[in-house]
Amino acid sequence: MILARSFQELHAAREELGEVAFVPTMGAFHEGHLELMRRARETGFPVAISIFVNPLQFGPSEDFAQYPRDEAGDLHEAERVGVALAFLPRAEELVPQSDAWVRVGQVASRWEGAARPGHFDGVATIVLKLFHLVRPRIAYFGRKDLQQCAVIGTMVRDLNVPVELAFVETVREPSGLAMSSRNRRLTATEQRIAPRLYEQLRRAADEIASNEGPRESLRRARVELSNVGFEVDYIEYVDPSTLEPLATFEPCGRIVAAAKLGSVRLLDNVPVESSEKVTLGR
Ligand code: AMP
Repeated sequence: MILARSFQELHAAREELGEVAFVPTMGAFHEGHLELMRRARETGFPVAISIFVNPLQFGPSEDFAQYPRDEAGDLHEAERVGVALAFLPRAEELVPQSDAWVRVGQVASRWEGAARPGHFDGVATIVLKLFHLVRPRIAYFGRKDLQQCAVIGTMVRDLNVPVELAFVETVREPSGLAMSSRNRRLTATEQRIAPRLYEQLRRAADEIASNEGPRESLRRARVELSNVGFEVDYIEYVDPSTLEPLATFEPCGRIVAAAKLGSVRLLDNVPVESSEKVTLGR
């Protein structure tokens, strides 16, 4: 596996490898990240990953400093799943000033966008820079961050970015909890409560799929989650490409939620259909 820390090293590696499939990440790998890399490998192109904890996507009161980092462990895992190139840019080179930004409008405005002002501008700006530097043929993102998929999809479409996008379904713990680097910060008690989020989303999804109005199902889920200690930020039934709320059942619809458990903000979303294919961690 080639390790590139500077743009110069990256350019040299890109010359050597030809077309690549790309998985951008913030590191602290779990099976969700590794699944994206495995799927990228299936393209037959060499796989390039990036590991960069993007300061532009964290608000001033957010957990940038506490975000988990494990460079040695990550590189070991990446090598194990057959990654050809790991790009670990230095912040000084990747974000020297950021006077020019990418701004995505409506689709970035609700939910995570409302809770974390400027978050998606930071994501879109750095992802576009990474696309320009890595120049991938295809890039992989996880549906775990559903709104991020929609924001990047919109950016790529509206700015004619020459990359194909692939979205991969959420990888979960055997308990159903969506894997996330931030799960490392849950206490033992919180770890026992955390799977209730997915449980409530699934229950609400099944009810909506059997034609119960979303409003009542989601209200019940919110109450149940508050009762077990979550501080629910939002739980909504939406169109996954626009993130606009849906009032009645639509085959494409998904329930998105964010809820705080102690100091950890958990995100999850599920499709509303009668039989979901769940990928459990290996
Ligand atoms: P992150 O390092 O959190 O920025 O995530 C890097 C990529 O992995 C993003 O495209 C995420 O959506 C994706 N990802 C994170 N968690 C999961 C998961 N549990 N299942 C699938 N993809 C995931």
